Amino acid sequence: MKGKLTTGLAKRRLAATTAAVSEPTANPLDQPVAALPGVGGERASRLVKLDIRTVGDLLWHGPRRYEDRNQPHEAKSLAQGDDVTVAGTIVAAGVKRMRYGKNLFEFILDDGTARLHCRCWNMPSMERYYKNGDFVHVHGKIKGQKPRTMNHPEAEVSEEGEEFIHLKRIVPVYRLTDGIKQRWLRGVLWHAVEQFAEQAPDTNAELLARDDSHWLPLPEAFKTAHFPDDFSQIELARERLALEEFIRFQRQIRERRRTFQAKVKALPCDGDNRLVTPFLSALGFEFTGAQQRTWGEIARDMAGSHPMRRLLQGDVGSGKTAVAACAALRAIESGFSVVELAPTEILAEQHYRVFGKWLEPLSIPVHLHTGAKKTMGDPGQAELNMENSELQPLVIGTHALVEDKFALDNIGLAIIDEQHKFGVEQRKKLVRKGQYPHVLVMTATPIPRTLGLTVYGDLDISLIDELPPGRGQVRTHIRTPEGLPKVWNFIRDKLAEGRQAYVVYPRVDDEGGGSLKAVNQELENVRKQLTPHAVGLLHGRLKSTDKEQVVAAFLAGKIKVLLATSVIEVGVDIPNATIMLIENADRFGLAQLHQLRGRIGRGTHESHCILVADKATDEGRRRLEVMEKGGDGFVLAEEDLRQRGPGELLGQAQSGLPDFKFGNLIDDWRLIQKARDLVAHEPAD
Ligand code: ADP
Ligand code: MG
Repeated sequence: MKGKLTTGLAKRRLAATTAAVSEPTANPLDQPVAALPGVGGERASRLVKLDIRTVGDLLWHGPRRYEDRNQPHEAKSLAQGDDVTVAGTIVAAGVKRMRYGKNLFEFILDDGTARLHCRCWNMPSMERYYKNGDFVHVHGKIKGQKPRTMNHPEAEVSEEGEEFIHLKRIVPVYRLTDGIKQRWLRGVLWHAVEQFAEQAPDTNAELLARDDSHWLPLPEAFKTAHFPDDFSQIELARERLALEEFIRFQRQIRERRRTFQAKVKALPCDGDNRLVTPFLSALGFEFTGAQQRTWGEIARDMAGSHPMRRLLQGDVGSGKTAVAACAALRAIESGFSVVELAPTEILAEQHYRVFGKWLEPLSIPVHLHTGAKKTMGDPGQAELNMENSELQPLVIGTHALVEDKFALDNIGLAIIDEQHKFGVEQRKKLVRKGQYPHVLVMTATPIPRTLGLTVYGDLDISLIDELPPGRGQVRTHIRTPEGLPKVWNFIRDKLAEGRQAYVVYPRVDDEGGGSLKAVNQELENVRKQLTPHAVGLLHGRLKSTDKEQVVAAFLAGKIKVLLATSVIEVGVDIPNATIMLIENADRFGLAQLHQLRGRIGRGTHESHCILVADKATDEGRRRLEVMEKGGDGFVLAEEDLRQRGPGELLGQAQSGLPDFKFGNLIDDWRLIQKARDLVAHEPAD
């Protein structure tokens, strides 16, 4: 008999009438899982590892995949590489000792059409579970044809009773943990769905009724997602449950914002342009349309009644620094000080240099505050520090700014550059140095739309979607190590023409045995290849003064080539450098390669980025090809998200990432947008 879940229509009617008269009762889904028959304390404590504590958690534990046990594949027609489910009877089973102390457990399954050898290495205890005559379902990839084999299959022995749950239907397969078996969990879920899905409070039904698309009622969605009658229904159910998650999440974001805005008044930064205007006219270039627009958005925020919480997003080289300078000047002309946090000393030094050049003519004190160098409060520097200035200072620094020791009066604005390099806690700590200052965070890592709407949902987003004019083109070339002699020739020619180059390797030191190049070991070779041009070395483990010197020499053109690790990835801006060679390029993520490549193409000369990789894995190869084709950081970021998941892309920001059970941060952009729109138009309660 094939089981059908009761429709529960009668139950629903009953629930509707009682709910109307009685107080809202406790949600039955909040009961601990141990309340279910067959779930004892021992198993309940193991389920916690799967984040399952309540009956509701159980319903939200979606299948990892489904197996069609209506129609298992016939063993005789399987070809190598097929990913399939086969059902049959075990006709032989046993452990074989192999060479080198390995052993192999094998059982042979016969489904009436042919035999299939199922093999598990070094798991002799399996012998206890699979016996001659057992009826099993196995799932996995076909490895060989002679004999037909499947290695480490997922296998499940059928037992008497409850046939309709585990057999002759589309069967859900769940993520498991120690001590929790597939068949047991499926049984528990069957009962949980049957007993409780109907009672899942469909609180968003009314909200969704207003939408153009038809959405399944929540109880239906749970039933179908776990025990579908048809493959075609699964996606509909998944979307309904994903939407539910996204709606809840967007509400949380909205509530956080409302609470914040109700509680906190903004520091008044509606300055009079007495610093911004002279800055813009002395800058030497006109703002692009996108820079003007984003500066307008920032200025409006800063003059508003709630503290600004804005993300300024713009591809590498789009000119975020100058926009941030306007924000800093706006705060200073309104009587406040400003802090700016940068992820590396190299970048902090660069900002110190650039902001110094821009702001000091306006009599604004600009300070550097890093682990190695602190210019503020140094009596020998009183004059240089403009301690007598009427104006509040701008302090630029690294993590040292976040430490308890650092304090600054009157902070009106906190700027965080390359924010993906910082953790949420560091950002909060910096912001807490002031009394709810305005906050501007910047990033050149393009954020795929899904993440912009979720992870950064607390922030307003401004986008610089236009590069300053007059930039030379950047060409990207992929080469193998055999092509290196030609590459060195090419670089030498460009250096002879007066250009400068970066050479990037993944490691500082060769840690032995690896095939990855390390800058310390390769320095001599790079010098030899590029004679007579001067080569400097830059990596994170150098002393600060050495870093500073080598960057200064490169900037001044005394050094022609910078051999570096990915420390140069963020922010470094040296327009005459037009060549970048990256070896072991397949070891870097796409977003990172894009950042690295962003160091060139900043002047008017044509630039070249040469990516060298051994015959890489398919994935590595595909990444490099995406680089070769595309300039658009957003395309790259979406591809990176797809290939490597959000962790890589977001860096430390991911700690704010919710754990969606049915929602998918890669593909569900439309659903996320829908949830956001629905919630935005929902009346406040
Ligand atoms: P990023 O957005 O990557 O931080 P930067 O702010 O470092 O980029 O800007 C890159 C370079 O472009 C800098 O040298 C900057 O002075 C220059 N720049 C910025 N805006 C303009 C503009 N509107 N016109 C010309 N050059 C600009
Ligand atoms: Mg920058």
